[in-house]
Amino acid sequence: MNSITNLPEKVQQQINKVSEVAGYLWEREWAERNAGNISINLTDLFEGEKLENPERVVDFNFPKEAAGLIIFVSGTGCHLRHLINRVEEAACIIVINEQANGYSIVWGGAKENFRPTSELISHVKIHLFNAENNPSHKTIVHTHPIELIVMSHHPFFQEEEKLNHGLWKMCPEIRVFVPRGVNCAPYALPGTEDLADLTIKGLQNRDVVLWEKHGALASGEDAERAFDYLDVANKGAKLLLTAWSAGFEPIGLTGAELKDLEQFI
Ligand SMILES: [Zn+2]
Repeated sequence: MNSITNLPEKVQQQINKVSEVAGYLWEREWAERNAGNISINLTDLFEGEKLENPERVVDFNFPKEAAGLIIFVSGTGCHLRHLINRVEEAACIIVINEQANGYSIVWGGAKENFRPTSELISHVKIHLFNAENNPSHKTIVHTHPIELIVMSHHPFFQEEEKLNHGLWKMCPEIRVFVPRGVNCAPYALPGTEDLADLTIKGLQNRDVVLWEKHGALASGEDAERAFDYLDVANKGAKLLLTAWSAGFEPIGLTGAELKDLEQFI
């Protein structure tokens, strides 16, 4: 089943979006070497097909609510840019077993010694959170957006409201298309449950979670929508840093102008 054409059409469409977005991330220099990871909760798209491969279960300690989930996920150590046209090598589809103590790879993962991303636990926990709280958001994108990471080193990062005002004031689209703003998540070791828990906390009231001195994460209906949140938020950071680099403090949209934009949210 290793060719993409053997997958249900709706699943192929979702994976094709991932390939498209991987191209954007690479062009932006947001995906150096093995940076970044992407996953999709495909459970609904397989409509109860029995996919699990009990002979090839890899032990993994998932939350028990994860039993039966079917997840597309990029691989650990894989180059995100290989998702553009070698998606079967750099990503896989896993099925989590009924005991939630292991998974089997049912598609992809064709690269030698392939394993799913080291952020697998974060992705699974966020999908469980989204299934409860934000069910249309099936795709998670984590990447390294340059200007947002720079902002995570700025004193504004310690004052989330200031950071969001700094981004929103730069142009109307940022207020409208990242309406809930950016969460500032304190540094945590990559790949840990601590980072997963901080991210879930951040997603409760924000569209983007900015991981201090590391990168950012967003979820969306598909990979392109998740990318849009990151792209627009990063645009605010880039505009702000550009003004500062030119040596002036931007005037910014006024409070009344920002308020007026709320009609589009
Ligand atoms: Zn990262």
